[in-house]
Amino acid sequence: MKIYLSGKLVQEKDARISVFDHALLYGDGVFEGIRTYNGRVFMLKEHIDRLYRSARAIDLKIPISKKAIFKAVVMTCKTNNNMNGYVRLIVTRGKGTLGLNPYTCKRPEIIIITGKIQLYSPKLYQHGLKVITAGTIRNHTESLNPSIKSLNYLNNIMAKIEAINSGVEEVIMLNVQGYVAEASGDNAFIFKDNRLLTPPTSAGALEGITRNIAMKLAGQSGYEVGEAMLTRYDLYNADEMFLTGTAAEIISVVEMDRRTIGSGLPGKKTVELTKQFRRLAAETGVPIA
Ligand code: PMP
Repeated sequence: MKIYLSGKLVQEKDARISVFDHALLYGDGVFEGIRTYNGRVFMLKEHIDRLYRSARAIDLKIPISKKAIFKAVVMTCKTNNNMNGYVRLIVTRGKGTLGLNPYTCKRPEIIIITGKIQLYSPKLYQHGLKVITAGTIRNHTESLNPSIKSLNYLNNIMAKIEAINSGVEEVIMLNVQGYVAEASGDNAFIFKDNRLLTPPTSAGALEGITRNIAMKLAGQSGYEVGEAMLTRYDLYNADEMFLTGTAAEIISVVEMDRRTIGSGLPGKKTVELTKQFRRLAAETGVPIA
């Protein structure tokens, strides 16, 4: 498997960046996780647009055009025959001094890694996921805005540690005000009556690409779809609950804080939405070959 590193395709053992790269020293950089399905890169434009928005938010100038990154992702997938897999696209701040000043970093590195990802076992997709509420609060929008998909994921990792140490695989993170923000690596949704609701990004959620697809598909199916400030009360009282993410796709949540959500089984609306999502993923995207 070859790695794309700032314009070159190299073997994994040769894909090296400086220990002075601020991505390593400070988590200073941005990234995207992208999927390939059936020989196509799914939602590539949307991922690249978000990458550039994240970069702009941290004043990191990506040294090549969106078009060039687009081509590099497709070319790397083609080289590695990544037709049903996962792509990690990373832009680091680059090599600088040991101080914080990011402007000492002159050349960001662009890295594209292809591989596989499986977040949850097939069983969990069938039976639904159990989650807890994390004690770790999601980053405040004015500390490190969760809309930025940055290389600093310690906030999420601290929450994930709580999940794993409590015997579950995911957590719901609240924001400083106590409203639901998102999961550690996914967006959170509930169906209540005929409405599909998810927290607004201002509550501390990434503008998930899968989130946007879920909202669009549900709207097309006739549900009322909206963003709302949600509390745990709303989640405990939901008819159905699910998480969305590029790697997770759509997964039902059937238990939260050891309480049954809805019927305790993946809900009908979520199952239908998942089918629609899988169809879209299987049929659309940028051809690789
Ligand atoms: N929230 C967080 C914190 C994430 O890291 C991700 C991506 N794994 C998501 C939400 C879901 O976003 P997307 O659907 O674009 O993958």
